[in-house]
This record gives sequence, C-alpha cells and structure tokens, in this order.
Amino acid sequence: MADPKGFLTTKRENAQHRPVFLRLKDWREVYDEFGNERVQKQAGRCMDCGIPFCHQGCPLGNLVPEWNTLVWRDDWRRAAERLHATNNFPEFTGTLCPAPCESACVLGINDDPVSIKRVEISIVDRAWDEGWIAPQVPTTKTGKKVAVVGSGPAGLAAAQQLTRAGHDVVVFERADAIGGLLRYGIPEFKMEKSRLDRRLDQMRAEGTEFRTRVNVGEDITAAQLREEFDAVVLAGGATAWRDLPIPGRDLKGVYQAMEYLPPANKVAAGQLDRSPIHAEGKHVVVIGGGDTGADCVGTAHRQGAASVTQLEIMPKPPESRAEAHPWPTYPLLYRVTSAHEEGGERVYSVSTTEFVGDGDGNLRALRLAEVAVVDGRFTTVEGSEREIPADIVTLAMGFVGPEKGALLSDLGVDLDERGNVARGRDFQTSVEGVFTAGDMGRGQSLIVWAIAEGRSAAAGVDAYLTQRTFLPRPIEPTDRPLV
Ligand SMILES: Cc1cc2nc3c(=O)[nH]c(=O)nc-3n(C[C@H](O)[C@H](O)[C@H](O)COP(=O)(O)OP(=O)(O)OC[C@H]3O[C@@H](n4cnc5c(N)ncnc54)[C@H](O)[C@@H]3O)c2cc1C
Repeated sequence: MADPKGFLTTKRENAQHRPVFLRLKDWREVYDEFGNERVQKQAGRCMDCGIPFCHQGCPLGNLVPEWNTLVWRDDWRRAAERLHATNNFPEFTGTLCPAPCESACVLGINDDPVSIKRVEISIVDRAWDEGWIAPQVPTTKTGKKVAVVGSGPAGLAAAQQLTRAGHDVVVFERADAIGGLLRYGIPEFKMEKSRLDRRLDQMRAEGTEFRTRVNVGEDITAAQLREEFDAVVLAGGATAWRDLPIPGRDLKGVYQAMEYLPPANKVAAGQLDRSPIHAEGKHVVVIGGGDTGADCVGTAHRQGAASVTQLEIMPKPPESRAEAHPWPTYPLLYRVTSAHEEGGERVYSVSTTEFVGDGDGNLRALRLAEVAVVDGRFTTVEGSEREIPADIVTLAMGFVGPEKGALLSDLGVDLDERGNVARGRDFQTSVEGVFTAGDMGRGQSLIVWAIAEGRSAAAGVDAYLTQRTFLPRPIEPTDRPLV
C-alpha cells in the first residue's frame, strides 16, 4: 500500500490549466506544470483496495494500485514498467481518457477519487524523459505477414503487439500521416502530436512498417491484400458521420466537425498557413454536446470567433451522480472541458429546425426550438422557435459506423445489426484470417477501448498464425463500459 493515511491527510489535486488569455494564443496542451513530488502525494491517496474497482472500470485492466504504490515509494522506473504491462500508449490515455477508472475508485464513494490520470501521465512523461522507454525489438521472427488497415489507436496497438510477437507488420493509412483521429481529429491543445510521433519512432525501430496515402480497397484491392498477407486486421474506425438533413443543409457554412477539425490540426502542426474553414470574426454554432463538439469549440476560440454557441438536444446533465448512475459506474455528468472554460455558451434541450441563408447561398442564421421529452420522445415546445446568428455551423452529432466502401464489400465481411463489422470472440470476422479492432467493430467509442481492442485482436491474430499465443487479451468483443 502507498501512504496508509494518505487518503485521510491529502486532498485531491490536479494540474491547473494555463490561463485562458495565454493558451488561446497557441495550440499547445492546456495543462500547467505539476511537480513530481505533488504527484507522489496524490499517488499516496490510493488505498490499495482488496478489490480494486479501478481495474474493472478500465478496459485495459490497468494495474492502478501497483503503480500508485511504486510512485509513492519513488520507484518511478518500476511504475513505468507496470504501466506499460497493460497499455501500449499511456500518454494517449493519460491526456485524453475520460478516466472511467476514477469513476470506479473506491475513495470516490465518499470523497474525491485518486487523481489516477495525473499519476499515469506523470509516470509516462518521466519514463520518456529518463530514456526508460526503448524499442522492444523481437528476438525471433515467425515469417508471417500481417496487414493492419487504419492507423488509429486500435490499429497502432494491434501493430505494436504483433510486431513484438515476431510478425512482419505493415500498417496502411489512407491519410497523409499516421494516427487516425489522434492525428487529425483530436486537437493539439488536448494532446500534442509530438507524443504520437515519439511512439511512432519507437514502433518503426521495433520493425513496424507504415504506408500512408494508401486507401485499401481502392489503391490496393482486397484480393491483393489477402494474397500478400497471412492475416489482416481491419481498424478503419467508425468514420461515417451522422448528418442533419434539414432545410438549408447545403448552404455554404454548414460543415461536418471532421471537415472543420483536420485542417485546423494541420495549421497547428505547421503544415498549413490558414484553415480554409476559419472562424475568425464569425458566429460559430456547434451542434452536438460531446467530445467532438468541445474540440470544435476550443478550435473556434483559438481562431478568434466572434461568438461560439454549442447546442445539445438532451437536457443539461446533473452536477453530481444521479441515482441511475451509482458508483462504480461512469456517470453522466455536467462536465466543463478546457474548451468550455475558454468561453462560449452552451444551450441544452434545443433542436435545430432550419439553416437560414442570406439569399446568396451562404449561411446567415440557424433556427432552433426548445424540446421537452414527452412519453420518451423529443417534442417541440410550442412558441419557442427562435433564430440565432450563424456564419459557421459544425455538425458534431456522432458517427453511425464504418464506411461501407470497397474494402468491406470486396472482403465480404458480415456486419452486425448496428452496421459495424461483426466478429467472434477472437476478434475474427466472418472471413477467415480477417480480424477487426476498434471503432470499426465496436462502433464510435473511446481511445482506451480502441487500445484494449487492438491488444485483444492481436492475441486473436497471433493464435491464428502460430496456434498459440502469450499476448494478453484484456477484453471480449462484447464487453461494454460500466455505465
Ligand atoms: C473529434 C474527436 C475527438 C475525440 N476525442 C476523444 C477523447 O478526448 N478521448 C477519447 O477517449 N476518445 C475521443 N474520441 C474518440 C476516439 O478518437 C476514437 O474512439 C478512436 O480514435 C477510435 O480508434 P480507431 O483506431 O478504432 O479508429 P480511428 O482513430 O478512427 O482511425 C481509423 C483510421 O483508419 C483509416 N482508414 C479507414 N479506412 C481506411 C482504408 N480503407 N484504407 C486505409 N486507411 C483507412 C482512417 O483514415 C483513420 O485514420 C474522439 C473522436 C473524435 C472524432
């Protein structure tokens, strides 16, 4: 156990965010410094519970009490080893995860939970700084070739596990750079891309090959893929976005979030001078209250928007756990992200009824109405319709599943009832030798689930190719969050 009285004597603390006026001038991560001595004290709050519910909260089964104890004892190197025992990329989860482990922390029953995410990111940052993270080059090779389609966190986790198991792994990505949503969806202010690039260097040194600008199914056919490789992992994500087909949808100024965010990320990375969709001096309305919406809000602030309004059809969530979400579940709560701290307005229980043009094909305003839930259905509140100014609207309403293009149809994989790629317990699809991991099989989800999926699918592939495996399999395809 860490400090036996830590949970009684130390209050929860976390890194502050940099002042808003400063951080809006750059794209860098928003967090301020948080010294390692303070991290040790925070780790000391861990009670090393007999039944560590944080393990269950985390799809990766992270060994949270073990690394908390090691950090408290100032043994950061062993803490980093225990952290990497269950997670290929703790810096992705340490910056981006909504931390279901913290919602499941036993201390959270009657106090603030342990700052698990802060301890996680501090361990991995220190491990990189000290040079403890080195390539793990396989000592024996199997002679088997594996293609991974898609380079998001699921594809990367599968590729790293399979490379380390001795297979020759090629990751195909249709974009011009590796990383999936980590690269071009999630903004720099949530996770700096240098964190991703450092991991990719490690993976290259281990032997993973990356091929960008290859749209599998078009530039290389499914048949060619099957011929060249002994197994295939489909990790193409759930990239088919949900649209809002209401009057005015075709006006100039209405975009999908994933049309708006990628060029902004390229500007932050120095690849573009200015985004073709720029919010400077404009009234921006974001439709959708989730992570993607918050990323649009933070991006619009940094571009100098005149106003930013975020609309959500659901009512405002409660500020503390509702009865329906008891500990240790991940509760639906009113959360204030760093983007929300930076300004703008959040409007709940509203539905957009029309995009209004200026007569010249450009968006001028958005018409909305308040809604109430009556008999389980959204019903418009009579007389509540109004117009708000809008020069740019971004649709951040989620994703309906994987794209149903040539890749899936030519391979002939079955889909499940939700339109995701169907798979069995070993993450193998209906086509022998073809596996799937991440949002492509699970539907729109989280990075921590994508990494867990990639690790688990790698175990399935390894067993298929070599008839046995020592790779861990943290989840079943049917596992769901504790909500
Ligand atoms: C804007 C945004 C913000 C988010 N923020 C968070 C967050 O803060 N925390 C969190 O936990 N989750 C977040 N998520 C969700 C998270 O990013 C995803 O759940 C996760 O990235 C899924 O990983 P994946 O590897 O399955 O797919 P993806 O990351 O979507 O990667 C799939 C990749 O496959 C490529 N691809 C697809 N088809 C082909 C093909 N035929 N040939 C070659 N390449 C192909 C795509 O180009 C893409 O790069 C966010 C999502 C979005 C959209």
